[in-house]
Order: sequence, then C-alpha cells, then structure tokens
Amino acid sequence: MSRKILVLPGDGIGPEIVGEAVKVLECLRRDHGLDVELEQGLIGGAAYDAAGKPLPEETLKLAKAADAVLLGAVGGPKYDTLDRPLRPERGLLAIRAELELFGNLRPAILYPQLASASALKPDVVAGLDIMIVRELTGGIYFGEPRGIRTLENGERQGYNTLVYRESEIERIGRLAFETARKRGKRLCSVDKANVLEVTELWREVMTRLSSDYPDVELSHMYVDNAAMQLVRAPKQFDVLVTTNMFGDILSDCAAMLTGSIGMLPSASLDKDSRGMYEPIHGSAPDIAGQGVANPLATILSVAMMLRYSLGEPALAERLQAAVGQVLDQGLRTPDIHTPDTRKVGTTEMGDAVVAALRA
Ligand code: NAD
Repeated sequence: MSRKILVLPGDGIGPEIVGEAVKVLECLRRDHGLDVELEQGLIGGAAYDAAGKPLPEETLKLAKAADAVLLGAVGGPKYDTLDRPLRPERGLLAIRAELELFGNLRPAILYPQLASASALKPDVVAGLDIMIVRELTGGIYFGEPRGIRTLENGERQGYNTLVYRESEIERIGRLAFETARKRGKRLCSVDKANVLEVTELWREVMTRLSSDYPDVELSHMYVDNAAMQLVRAPKQFDVLVTTNMFGDILSDCAAMLTGSIGMLPSASLDKDSRGMYEPIHGSAPDIAGQGVANPLATILSVAMMLRYSLGEPALAERLQAAVGQVLDQGLRTPDIHTPDTRKVGTTEMGDAVVAALRA
C-alpha cells in the first residue's frame, strides 16, 4: 500500500531545501520503486500568513493521517513581534506534541570529505559518529505553569517549570537503549542530578532500565561536563540520551563538531515509529531566497525517514551513498566550501544528488 508523506516547507530557506528533498523523493519513486504519495501543507509563518495560525487544523489532520512528515524550518524576524501563541515556533512545538513525537534522534556524523570544515582539529573529530537521543515532548519547554508575572512590588518575574513523569523518562530511555543496541552498545545518560530533583529521578529510571539491556553499557554524566567532553574528546561517545532542553543545546554543539549545521538531519518518532523528519537548523533568514542554502541536511532527513518510518534501509543506504558521492565530486554549498572545492547553489546540489541516485 502506498505510504503518505506530508511535506511542510515552512519559512525562510524551508521551501528551497525541501524542494530539493522532494526532487530526491520523486526520483526514488520513479526509478527505485518507492511507493509513496506526497501531500503539501502549511506550517509556521507561512501558515500564519495564509490562515492566521502557525498550525492550522487542516495541517494537523493531514499530519495525523500521514506515515511521515518532512519539514523544512519555521520562523523569521517578520514574526518575532507576534503574540507568543501565534509565533511560528509554537506551530512546531504543537505538531510535535500533537503527534506525540517524544523521541528525537540527532546523529552527528563527520563526513571524511568535510574534516577540514570542523572548527576542531581533524584528529579530534575524524570518524566522528555519535547519536543524541533527545526527549522532545516534555521537560521545561512544555511544563506548566509558565509565563511572565508582575510581583507585588511591581517587578516582573519570568518562570517556567521543569517536570518529567517516570513514564516519560522510561519511554525515551527505552528508545535510547534500543538505539545503542543497534550501534556501539554504549549509552551515556546526561543529567544535572546533583542540582535538579527531576533529573535525580531521570538517573534512577535510566539505571533501573539498564537491567533490561545487559548488552548495553550505561554511564551517567552531568550536562556541564558533557558539554565540555563534546568539544574535548567527542569520539568517547556512542549514544547520548538527555532531556528536551539539554538535548537542544548539546545537539547544536555536536552539530558544529561536524563543520556545518547544514549537513545534519533529525528524526522525531512516536511509539509506532511514525515520524517527522527535518534538518536540525532553522529557517536561516540571513540567506533565504538567495539559492545558497545547503539542502543536504534535509535530503539526509529523507534517508532517516526511509530507515525509521518507511522500512526501506537499503534505499536509505543508497541515498547516503549518493550524498557521499556528491561530496567526493568536490561540490560544496558556501557553508562547507573550501578553496580546493567547487562552490554550488542549492539547486545544483540537489540535482547532483539526484544524478548520483540515478547513476
Ligand atoms: P538558523 O539555524 O536558522 O541559522 C544559524 C546560521 O546557520 C545562520 O548563519 C544560517 O545562515 C546558517 N544556516 C542554517 N541552515 C543553513 C543551511 N541549510 N545552509 C547554509 N547555512 C545555514 O538559526 P537562527 O538564525 O538562530 O534562527 C533563525 C530562525 O529559525 C528563527 O526564527 C528561529 O526561531 C528559527 N528556528 C527554527 C528551527 C526549526 O524550524 N526547527 C530551529 C532553529 C531555529
């Protein structure tokens, strides 16, 4: 039966990079027997402009009926002064919550061809391949109460709430152990158990779960140390599992180890492996409309979709190999360009991946 993919380009460079990923999906459909139907929808600022809200009901309905969602990025300066519930980023948080996408997988892989693009010394990052498993629908980004209130003395106070239920910790923990089991069998749980009671519970649950995964070696690390270790000796890690906010920050840090935020995909999964796939970067308003954005993170997000939601690991491998081939040919968008390589734009990069897939 044909699987449904909902395509949500979003804002800024979103439509440009998603356009290239759609070319790749069309090629897989035409030439490699991938049986999928594509539908388009609105999210973020684009949805606010058209329908007055960042996540219209129609989009949510299509997303709930789809096997997978491919998202570009949302947001932009034009929307920064809107009331908070109307801002593009709220649409993204809402779709993640509505689809119960609690498990965010963010690989940080350094392509050997890009070793010189990393800000770290090549020997520190060569061969880097780590996976960050971030809890995505709980923690301080969703906790209530939240807001900005005025105190009796007239001073304003901002407040948010960090909460995790045991069951929320357990389901992300199991996803992380399963992920580690399929890779290097080492899992590092990152918390701040010395200060935050919530993560004391997090550590306790992770330790309890480890008895169900005796083949996976579990370790614990405080988040401040984890940030330091990521830039000191990142190859010590295989899989990291952490809370929503810690994962947000650590995964961007890990992204830069690889040279460019424009290279890194992500998957957000529900309990049945239905998922939303998106590059980890934002809508890059500074380069939107210029045809220079790197589409490879979005194209590699399609590879994750093939692997995790569509059950097509062979096609995922093939697509990753096509990206490797294009890098071997020396093609580079400006964000990863070095003097000895050829600078190309978004469309030329997408076309090159399609050509490599067809070869
Ligand atoms: P950003 O990731 O959009 O950009 C950071 C820097 O990386 C910019 O210099 C940008 O040009 C560059 N960059 C990002 N993607 C690139 C690509 N594919 N190719 C080449 N260069 C790329 O982060 P920001 O500037 O902090 O945020 C911009 C907007 O994006 C904000 O409105 C923010 O809220 C939103 N945002 C959205 C998401 C999302 O949709 N998931 C994530 C982060 C930020």
